[in-house]
Amino acid sequence: MSGLGFSTRQLHAGERYDGPHAPRATPIHLSAGFVFDDFDQAHARFAGTDEGFSYTRVGNPTNAAAERRIADLESGSAALLVGSGQAAVATTILALVSTGDHVLSSSSIYEGTRELLRDDLARLGVTVDFVADPNDLAAWERGIRPDTRVVFAESIPNPKNDVLDVAALARLTRRHAIPFVVDNTLATPYLLRPLEDGADIVVHSASKFLAGHGTVLGGVIVDGGTFPWAAHADAYPQIARTPGPDGLTFAERSPHTAFLDFARRVAMRYGPVPSPLNAFLILQGIETLSLRVQRQSDSALHLARWLEGHPQVESVDYSGLPSSPHHAVARRYLTRGFGAVLAVTVRGGVDGARAFTNALRVFTRMTHLGDVRSLVLHPATTTHVLRDADELAAAGIHPGLLRLSIGLEDLDDLVADLDRALGEVAGVAGASSAPAEVPVVEAVSPRRLLAV
Ligand SMILES: *Cc1c(COP(=O)(O)O)cnc(C)c1O
Repeated sequence: MSGLGFSTRQLHAGERYDGPHAPRATPIHLSAGFVFDDFDQAHARFAGTDEGFSYTRVGNPTNAAAERRIADLESGSAALLVGSGQAAVATTILALVSTGDHVLSSSSIYEGTRELLRDDLARLGVTVDFVADPNDLAAWERGIRPDTRVVFAESIPNPKNDVLDVAALARLTRRHAIPFVVDNTLATPYLLRPLEDGADIVVHSASKFLAGHGTVLGGVIVDGGTFPWAAHADAYPQIARTPGPDGLTFAERSPHTAFLDFARRVAMRYGPVPSPLNAFLILQGIETLSLRVQRQSDSALHLARWLEGHPQVESVDYSGLPSSPHHAVARRYLTRGFGAVLAVTVRGGVDGARAFTNALRVFTRMTHLGDVRSLVLHPATTTHVLRDADELAAAGIHPGLLRLSIGLEDLDDLVADLDRALGEVAGVAGASSAPAEVPVVEAVSPRRLLAV
């Protein structure tokens, strides 16, 4: 829907009134499969000569409506909805690498993704290197090898808010002809569209801002449609060399959606399919995306400024603050707002963080973000618990650092809640001058290893 504004498209892009009743809202097609009119239509659906649906793992009209809308909002050629953000990342990487290949990633990324790249790809014979500073172009250049098949980064990493210079990294990956994948979860297409700045593929955890209400998990992969697969058939034979039953490769059949078509096949085989009910809830969330993200970003900026001036606060990581080393890059990319997630390091180390967290009443203690409710989490003892002290320090995750995801509550109530909690910090921070260490993890439960 080119030519229309973002808010109009978040309501209308990709809509189709299917069936005899023409319902205004997208129906939830909660059906495992779809009826074939006759013998020949069944064959045509499987042979791919008839576009209709056959089985929900392969495609579903509700999921397809969400895919069309997200592809439009991200300025992509096509999208694929999967069961979670992790499924989107895993499917994307699995579609691009083969045994012996190399992946180069920013180390400032979602911890679940970092663990997947570091621990699980190795088992498949794929090597991964990490670049410590996402905007150190010389380090990216040094890290690229002849067998590098993916460059991966996040547009707004958390908790440090070290905003990515997407266009600069895209120029480098173009020069080396390597697909550049950006996780755009925290920015959302409302704040930033990496494909417009030269990225090749965008992934999201739709569980966060897209769905927005903390009710469902989902993930999405968006193809920019611009990577020249056919010119790099040696590197990506699965997309540009191996012919399908019709004698054509994915790249020949449809050059602008070749990656997405292949990723759809990977997802079909590995099976991380989302429920159509979840697709509906994601679609409904997207209808108010711009309103929520604008308000949440505005509140986050206000709170970041207020926190920075508070005596019980050591530092605030938020790219909207002039004190942030990432402010200049953020101002170039995030013209509508700097996002809803910030980190605050309170005085008193881990004891200060505990007192602060336990005193909050409006903020919810929870591992999630992008919810309509405000959330708080202590990364060092939760999401990043498998990192040792040196790794935490290198990532700037201090013992007193808390991640805040700002919701839609009244700003005055959020300020009052934070102010009261910081009052509790004063009690413990005064007692010890040196910041307390993060407690050493004695044992990691299997549950924790399974569910990051
Ligand atoms: C949450 C998150 C993921 C993982 O998404 P799930 O839907 O929880 O699987 C990936 N990347 C980022 C940046 C995230 O915040």
